[in-house]
Amino acid sequence: MMNRRSMLKAFGATAALAATQNSLSAQTLAVAPSPAPSAAKGPFTLPPLPYAYDALEPYIDAATMHLHHDKHHAAYVNNLNTAVAGHPELADKSVEALLADLNAIPEDVRTAIRNQGGGHANHTLWWQILSTSGGAAPKAELAKDIDAQYGSFAQFQDRFSKIALSVFGSGWAWLSVVAGKLVIETTPNQDSPLSQGQTPILGLDVWEHAYYIKYQNRRPEYVAAFFHAINWDYVSGQYAQAKSSLHS
Ligand code: MN
Repeated sequence: MMNRRSMLKAFGATAALAATQNSLSAQTLAVAPSPAPSAAKGPFTLPPLPYAYDALEPYIDAATMHLHHDKHHAAYVNNLNTAVAGHPELADKSVEALLADLNAIPEDVRTAIRNQGGGHANHTLWWQILSTSGGAAPKAELAKDIDAQYGSFAQFQDRFSKIALSVFGSGWAWLSVVAGKLVIETTPNQDSPLSQGQTPILGLDVWEHAYYIKYQNRRPEYVAAFFHAINWDYVSGQYAQAKSSLHS
């Protein structure tokens, strides 16, 4: 039988080992490369992050980026591949095309495409609209039209933030283009504005998985930080593209 002394010794060794494992996994978390897409093979793939996991620090932390991209987004991609596996006619389409016409999707996989396809499309846009070097404000035509529609960039920011804070449960806040006009809106869950005939150019993920590690329940701090991490070059370009496709 173990005496008190050897028990303490064993406990001490276990605690030391646990501490080593913790610091090892923290380290692994910081340097692990984006994993190759695994599990269900199919037409849809997880796009690599267009920057390092810590590129958005201090606004969005590396641990959140690892989990959000490598686990959450990867799961949407895998589940989307599973959903289309029995429907080869769907596998040739882009996820945007699938979402733009949900009524055309066979009923047995419609909800899966809406949720998993929405998750894939929304997050693909999400990584692209984020950057700490894309400028502090909208550019070109988007800057002009935001001023015209919302009064000023500050007023737009205020309105967008309030809407993002109003989302109850999981969902997104969006700046979308519909019939050449800007619209601020929200969608529940992973619903895409594309399914309403709108083109999203900026989105804010307000699922708790997007901010809980760093901000816990402080969603207002996360929303404020988001405005420091928007790639306005990219968003302004998306706006120009959405407007020009109306005229073509
Ligand atoms: Mn998310």
